[in-house]
Amino acid sequence: MSRDGAAAEQLRELRDEIKRRIDYRAFYLRYCPEARASGARLHGFCPIPAHAHSGKGHPSLSIDLQHGLFNCFSRDEGGDAITFYELMHGVTFAKAVRELARELGIGAGRGRRPSLASRAAPDAADAEAEVFEPLDPEQTAAVCTRLLEICRAEDQLEGVNYLARRGIDAATARRAGITYFPRRAYRRVMRRMSDGFSVETLRRAGLFNRKEHLTFYHHRLLFPFYVGGRPLYLQARTTAAGVEPRWHNMRGHVPALYNADSLGALQTGAVVYLVEGFTDTLTLLAHGFAAVGLVGAGGLKEDWLAPLARFRVVAALDPDAAGRRAAARYRELFSARELRLAVIELPSDVNDFFRQHPAAGLELDLLTETALEEVDRSQ
Ligand SMILES: [Zn+2]
Repeated sequence: MSRDGAAAEQLRELRDEIKRRIDYRAFYLRYCPEARASGARLHGFCPIPAHAHSGKGHPSLSIDLQHGLFNCFSRDEGGDAITFYELMHGVTFAKAVRELARELGIGAGRGRRPSLASRAAPDAADAEAEVFEPLDPEQTAAVCTRLLEICRAEDQLEGVNYLARRGIDAATARRAGITYFPRRAYRRVMRRMSDGFSVETLRRAGLFNRKEHLTFYHHRLLFPFYVGGRPLYLQARTTAAGVEPRWHNMRGHVPALYNADSLGALQTGAVVYLVEGFTDTLTLLAHGFAAVGLVGAGGLKEDWLAPLARFRVVAALDPDAAGRRAAARYRELFSARELRLAVIELPSDVNDFFRQHPAAGLELDLLTETALEEVDRSQ
């Protein structure tokens, strides 16, 4: 085979390996974090720069998670994840394949023992689909509770430091149930989990993959979602720079707004902030505000509104086009249920705002007061 031929063959092999390993949901959500899931599809606004969409009107991007294919109806352009990567980054096929392979820890070499990172890689979406039923809430809570306990027994320092750099103190993190384990504890955490549960249970939870390895390898800072006092879902973040995707989740769906369980202790009429992401939610909690967060795919679900009905809800989303679009959409969702949503816009996201402004809490109070008055007047 000519050298060009061999290189092309190697690229094709890499491409096939990428398709076996890639988590399509995580991949596409990186570019379309607001996309909504329906069945095995995602729908959202198309982010492809060359399409230059206005961001208004109907979402035009549809993603088939089973096969990893996307299609933009508005520009009539579609293809696989590699084409999507090419379009998003303006790179060639060869560069897209090499970069994606590197992200997934796929080496071009052969015959080497696969690294621990590659053995820990989550199964591809299509492989996952053939795997059993998801766990019921009892089992899910048992698995999550155990993993959190096991991790809590490990050294938390790196996780605590990571959060501290983002202005989230250890006490707030502890109250939110956030736990960490260092990479050197990976095998021990994995072993202790498999001591407590069958591999099948752990695979059904998405904590273990087909190779019977814990999939939380790069992602070891765990954020639990509590419902009725029990952890029913976990999302985990990498604390290292340059790891993509930055998030990894267990199987199943986000069951609630992040931190929604804490609303039970609040008085009726209290101000509750609706923000995006763990960091913004925790930032507000660290400063003594009540907050719930939209985290992960699918946006705000209607079922989640009822518990908010007795509060004065104030949305503080990112001050960009996507944030404004989301705020307008949430406002409609609220008003369809005859609830009101006040909206404030900070000069930056909540976390940056608190890190950059010494009087951020006071400023937030003032903006909130004005926004609530506006809502009252428009009644
Ligand atoms: Zn498009």
